[in-house]
Amino acid sequence: MSRDYDLEPLWIPFTSNRDFKMAPRLLVAAQDMHYIAEDGRKILDGTSGLWCINAGHCRPHIVAAIRQQAAELDFGPIFQMGHPGPFRLAARLRELLPGDLEYSFFTNSGSEAADTALKIALAYHQARGEPQRQWLIGRKRAYHGTNFGGTSVGGIAINSKAYAGNLLLKVDHLPDTHDLEHNAFTRGQPQWGAQLADELETRIIAQHGTQNIAAVIVEPMAGSTGVLVPPVGYLERLRAICDKHGILLIFDEVITGFGRLGVPFACQKFGVQPDMVCLAKGLTNGAVPMGAVVTSKKIYDAIVNAAPEHGIELFHGYTYSGHPLACAAALASLDLFEKEGLFERAAELAPYFEDVVHSLRGLPHVIDVRNIGLVAGIELEPRPGATVTRAFEIFQRCFEKGVLIRVTGDIIALSPPLIINKNQINELVGVLADALRDQA
Ligand code: PLP
Repeated sequence: MSRDYDLEPLWIPFTSNRDFKMAPRLLVAAQDMHYIAEDGRKILDGTSGLWCINAGHCRPHIVAAIRQQAAELDFGPIFQMGHPGPFRLAARLRELLPGDLEYSFFTNSGSEAADTALKIALAYHQARGEPQRQWLIGRKRAYHGTNFGGTSVGGIAINSKAYAGNLLLKVDHLPDTHDLEHNAFTRGQPQWGAQLADELETRIIAQHGTQNIAAVIVEPMAGSTGVLVPPVGYLERLRAICDKHGILLIFDEVITGFGRLGVPFACQKFGVQPDMVCLAKGLTNGAVPMGAVVTSKKIYDAIVNAAPEHGIELFHGYTYSGHPLACAAALASLDLFEKEGLFERAAELAPYFEDVVHSLRGLPHVIDVRNIGLVAGIELEPRPGATVTRAFEIFQRCFEKGVLIRVTGDIIALSPPLIINKNQINELVGVLADALRDQA
């Protein structure tokens, strides 16, 4: 393949750089449900890019909005200045989010959203006269991006290894909720595991002191660590324990936000109201980088409205917070989600998707299939002494056959754009089934 660019100078994130550069998988265009690979092949996108293209690729309404905004106001500073985009977007998010989640702070990524939420939690307790509340509680097998805060509260040992010893100090982790012995091949929420939330009270609060804990951050459904659906009653218990002890509850909805579970946000699906949500990915349909933290009114009131007048209330923010292009992309994405009823569509398709993905049960080395909304995890038995190789080979084979899936360890994750149709679900799972059957 002749290219007019060199692969060598790019340091590719979360990738085996040398392997990739020897056998690259390059995408050059996209439309709706498909990518076009550099050799011209059409690739069915079974993973919404990287969990973000919820309305499908290169949708003309979003493209036009970005184009128009770039020509009209390319950049506007947001410190002590303003422009319409972020105000409009914050108002739209306030309408869409439940309860008193009313105030949006914009970032440029999910990682920045996670770190921003953690800082806001600390600032909230300080503003209310409880500055000793500094412990931040995450969960094992959680992913909150790669900045220092998110890496610290995240629960993936390999992501912390190179930085060990210099991450946030006052951090502890809940146990994860993944349990194949009790929950293998569950459709929707598993029945077993709500009691795992109790460790917050019985160990973590007991150990660090109820008066010292600032916040608990969890993904309502853990996505990138392998699609871990919360057990029935689990999030409710976390909420109750947080309420009892004055602890803020943060839901990282970077993946679950914007319709992935068949409702706008996972907090609505599970009927549990957090104090803050982290958003990114689907917020702009992946078209322009953007993240957000949306906080409850009580948090905004404590930090902003209760602060002395005429001063800056929170020393935090980014040059590109609320960037005009990102806001234009987000507003156009919200239009499209609404106009095409994409969240409802995801809910309608979910039972069909569930049946089709569970047809993979019984194929070689499949030890679990789990699903909720338009997301599924297929877990494979690791090869002895060679974990991750099995799933990665399946990923490569699917790509050769024209389907993009995502793997994490030996777990395959499917999270197609919400515009997928039944034939495309059959194609996605059919190609995956063939690859599973053909395993070496
Ligand atoms: N939080 C969650 C739950 C995520 O899944 C991700 C990315 O996958 C992030 C945060 C980080 O987002 P970003 O890669 O935009 O920094």
